Amino acid sequence: MAPFSIYKLSDTIITMIIVILLYGLICGSFVNALVWRLRQQGKGQRAKDKGQSLSILRGRSMCPDCRHTLAARDLVPVLSWLSLRGRCRYCQKPISVQYPLVELLTGLLFVVFYLGWTLSLSGLHLIWFLYGLVYVVFFVALAVYDFKWFLLPDKLVFPLIGVAASQVLVTSLWQQSLGVLWMSAVGAGLYFGLFWGLYQASDGKWIGGGDVKLALALGLIAGSPLKVMLALFIASLIGTLVSIPQIAGGKHGLKQHIPFGPYLLAGTFVVMVWGERLVNWYTGQFL
Ligand SMILES: [Zn+2]
Repeated sequence: MAPFSIYKLSDTIITMIIVILLYGLICGSFVNALVWRLRQQGKGQRAKDKGQSLSILRGRSMCPDCRHTLAARDLVPVLSWLSLRGRCRYCQKPISVQYPLVELLTGLLFVVFYLGWTLSLSGLHLIWFLYGLVYVVFFVALAVYDFKWFLLPDKLVFPLIGVAASQVLVTSLWQQSLGVLWMSAVGAGLYFGLFWGLYQASDGKWIGGGDVKLALALGLIAGSPLKVMLALFIASLIGTLVSIPQIAGGKHGLKQHIPFGPYLLAGTFVVMVWGERLVNWYTGQFL
């Protein structure tokens, strides 16, 4: 049940950890830019007045405040923020600690995902591994967005559904079997159906429409009804653990809006990394 064993930490593994961490930091930097651009688009504020593109994939990175185009030395994950002591080089305005934290979080999740990987890194397994890293990028972006603005934007959720569906299709074709397709469809249907029911029953008061759409993606990623139940269980466990000190401290009333997204995403991430082992352990114990 250990997430990884210490004997695995050979030189190769350490090199891999460093490489994966660096990729994670860079992807975290991308997440920051992506979330900010989506938010600007969502608010309908285009940077056309300054002739700068706010497209998600094109255009140089800029300071959110003075919109000065950033140079390469301003874009080194974590280190730039530290060396500038959290201020913009051009306008001296403070840069949120969110930027290095999101970079570190993405790097850390990449490493955890790698250390928890029990399969090979070739063929279909390598494809799954890369899909996993893409999901982590989506998860961090969605969690940050939901945490800050209580919203899971369609521009992130719909592509995630598409990517997850493509993994199911690729796997089915590769294995020449409909088993994965069937299990994922039932898992996604269960997750989506449950949330859609809650949404309808509460008139959208208990959970938002974004959560319902996200459930479809997370169900596909979890990959089976049992793993969906596990992901939901872990999500509610984390949610409870996080909200106890908040409620006890009087910071949040029970009725206050709490973003569900980050918990659902965390639950699915745990299942992505340890789901197979947890399910095997559970079926070995009780079935
Ligand atoms: Zn600036």
